[in-house]
Amino acid sequence: MLVNPPTGLYRRDDRCQCKIEDQTVQITFPPIELATIAAVLRNAGAEVFIRDYPALGMGWDEYLNDLKSIEPDFVLINVVTATAEGDFQACQAAKETLGDHVLTAAKGEYMEALGIDAMEAYPELDVGFHGEIERVLEKYHRGEALESLPGVIYRDETGNGTDPRIRRNPGHPVIEDLDDLPFPARDLLDNSIYISPETGNPLTVIHGNRGCPAHCIFCPAGVISGFSVRYRTPANVVAEIEQCINDQGIREFLFHGDTFTMNKKWVLELCSLIVEKKLDLHWGCNSRVDTIDDERAAAMKRAGCWVVAFGIESGSQDMLDKMKKGATLEQAENAVAACKRNGLRVHAFMVIGLPWETHETLKVTRDFLAKLDPDFFDFNIAYPLPGTEFYEIAVAEGLYESDPDQSGYARAAVRTHELSSEELTEWRRKALLGMFLRPRYIARTLARAGSPGVAVNYMKAGARRLRQLVSS
Ligand code: SF4
Repeated sequence: MLVNPPTGLYRRDDRCQCKIEDQTVQITFPPIELATIAAVLRNAGAEVFIRDYPALGMGWDEYLNDLKSIEPDFVLINVVTATAEGDFQACQAAKETLGDHVLTAAKGEYMEALGIDAMEAYPELDVGFHGEIERVLEKYHRGEALESLPGVIYRDETGNGTDPRIRRNPGHPVIEDLDDLPFPARDLLDNSIYISPETGNPLTVIHGNRGCPAHCIFCPAGVISGFSVRYRTPANVVAEIEQCINDQGIREFLFHGDTFTMNKKWVLELCSLIVEKKLDLHWGCNSRVDTIDDERAAAMKRAGCWVVAFGIESGSQDMLDKMKKGATLEQAENAVAACKRNGLRVHAFMVIGLPWETHETLKVTRDFLAKLDPDFFDFNIAYPLPGTEFYEIAVAEGLYESDPDQSGYARAAVRTHELSSEELTEWRRKALLGMFLRPRYIARTLARAGSPGVAVNYMKAGARRLRQLVSS
């Protein structure tokens, strides 16, 4: 039984781990990591059940009912930092309901950094996984002992029997040939609940590549997926797209590579294949500002891409350097211009609240964003995720001012050297309101909607967002 526990709507599969309601585009993505694990386990002969409780609007009662009716041998929970304490209660509930025969396990970036602490704090948690876990779980299902399995954190019962020690085995090697993985078991998901807020159509996520070579200090991408980028072949990605069309009727996608556009040849081949097969898709992707140009943008547009998301992060080059973004303001301007020239919309993500942030850098960042004038944007307050360099700095410098579970991208957990967490939270709220309420921006967004249905969806999303910002 693979679960997103009923502890809140978060991006649990994602390096971002953000609360959905903290985002401008409030979209719930399907738990594709769990679905991929499910496919691997099913191929190995397991019976698998997935439940995304927050996305289904289900709570603890439904979880307990599922435990009683399914009686799983194995419960794996998807943990995020902000809800970790509640997430681990899912292990406790499984033990109380099913007794010791159920093995409880946890995955997620949290386990990467704080897995041993979690095992110490929550005795009902039997196993933690770190790194890429598909092959680890497959081997476990086939009968390999935890003690000899890479990528696990487990209780070593071989000591004196009363005081099991917690051991963390080295990580499992990353999967070099990603084509070797089965497609996610979307047939085990309720795909009707994962909807594009723009069009109202079903939408899914495809992982085309894994890994990121950058070392942005706030991001756990490299810690989770490695610093070298691995790619599925374009043919394999397109085969998954065709399966989504044929089996689930899904034609809208987010290509979730840590940086989808990094390998130009791969992007161009994938886009050519989508065009050649006349797949008629509507999709978006993540990019870095130093990995896009007119050729890529034009090919992506032809293949059905409509929006590209960039982590532009700051309008201050000094801040970009300090956060180790490895990109320049000029590259950001060029990337946004290339997308606009080729008819692609741009979603700009800005990160504020890193330790060196000042009143001045905030102003510079807001001005830079206004100059870039993207179609969609967010100011995300940097959240110290365990395992990141930012987390180490926040702990070492005593920057925490709020509990991690009371904070997130909309409410600062830590102060900077100059600004309090309250000042950051309030600055973000006012800056977003000011940017959203520009009459020209509202008019342009509605004019570009392209259909009355999309315009209505934009208005609904905008009204919800404004209500949240005004009342927060
Ligand atoms: S470029 Fe930076 S923010 Fe983006 S995935 Fe890589 S490490 Fe994370």
